[in-house]
Amino acid sequence: MILYNGYTGALAVILEKNYPYIEELRKMEPMTSCDGYLKGVPGSLAKNLIDGGYVIADDRDELLEMQVLHNTQRYSSLISGITAVVTTYCNFACTYCYEGISCESKNVIESEVIRCIASLASESYGDEFYLALYGGEPLTALDECIELLAKVAEAVVGRDAQFGAGIVTNGYLMTPDVARKLVSLGVREAQITLDGTQELHDSRRVLRNGQGTFNKILDNIRKIPSEMTVKVRMNIDQGLDQDLREVTSQLHGLSNVSIHPAPTRYDHINLNSVAEVNQEYVDRCYPEYLINERLNARILGCVATTLRGMVIMPDGSILKCWNEVGDDHSNYGNIKECRNPNLMISMKWMQWDPYSLRSVCSSCKKLPQCCGGCPMEFVKGRPPRCRFKTDESFKRYIIQNYKHLTGQSEPCSLNTS
Ligand code: SF4
Ligand code: SF4
Repeated sequence: MILYNGYTGALAVILEKNYPYIEELRKMEPMTSCDGYLKGVPGSLAKNLIDGGYVIADDRDELLEMQVLHNTQRYSSLISGITAVVTTYCNFACTYCYEGISCESKNVIESEVIRCIASLASESYGDEFYLALYGGEPLTALDECIELLAKVAEAVVGRDAQFGAGIVTNGYLMTPDVARKLVSLGVREAQITLDGTQELHDSRRVLRNGQGTFNKILDNIRKIPSEMTVKVRMNIDQGLDQDLREVTSQLHGLSNVSIHPAPTRYDHINLNSVAEVNQEYVDRCYPEYLINERLNARILGCVATTLRGMVIMPDGSILKCWNEVGDDHSNYGNIKECRNPNLMISMKWMQWDPYSLRSVCSSCKKLPQCCGGCPMEFVKGRPPRCRFKTDESFKRYIIQNYKHLTGQSEPCSLNTS
């Protein structure tokens, strides 16, 4: 028997001789003290049950505790980082691109906007500042990336804080020279997307002239310096014949590279959201990728719902969510007009609260790990999109992490209660 507490992250194996105590505890009525529950339970077991947060007094409200922690981070006045859309232009013409942005127009971030972002970084109070480079394809505007990184780093280091940066890129232009340059400017992580095996990838993620991109991207990934970690985001659609493990073997032995299955959100004919179906498929078929190094609660969730979370467009417009890039109606001001905008105007984002008793998520046992899913669903007036569609997929996730922690490498077989 495995016990897991999503709030504390504790994972415990219960020995068979102790099963009766656990069964007994499950049947008990609420009590105001832990001692009351644990009468007759052997000392070491009792201590472990308290330490892991499995037994708590009834007057403690864990949901409220999580909500307070969550809101403390969300409403902080510190700006610990921003996302900069360096350009909306992209050198790819992916067959499924529904971004709706002008990815053909060669716009780049304005110099004035770079100055404003650096100024914001210099005025922030936090110990660290994180800059995420996003697009379009940011590396099509390499000079602007370099200027932005240099100016923001100077501003942050100038007030004795730590600077770090990451980039979301399709990887095609991430040549060894470019990667080395980015590392020298503080870029520590990159997210690069693949669509599975070469055949499938090259039928979808193509250059504007229709040419495939798989080999070039894979070659670039292999040569990225170890100082930069690479998250390979592997788009997954249920029903498509693709093999993640084949690509994994092609990247085997690169200690800075990890692969993360990413269920796509749309089917290719109807544009219906199929994210949950695809997620369930990923959880079922690729359990070895469900490892989470931190099993405790994801208290904050998405930065789009923080008071000071910002995505800055090339012209300085402020958005909240990466998926709003290209949506003309989502615009909460402009950084050129107000370097320190009051983002309370983005009230629709601040109203999202999965810990509120009004939310269906508040009674869901997967809440600590899921954090209510993508807040965009709430903002669009849709029901939550569950990270774990079924109890079975949640159990599979827990067992897989248990196996990982105990050194058992084979994927889990599900036999749980
Ligand atoms: S709201 Fe959803 S889509 Fe937008 S940044 Fe957050 S998780 Fe991503
Ligand atoms: S699994 Fe679904 S109901 Fe549960 S917290 Fe996540 S989004 Fe909410």
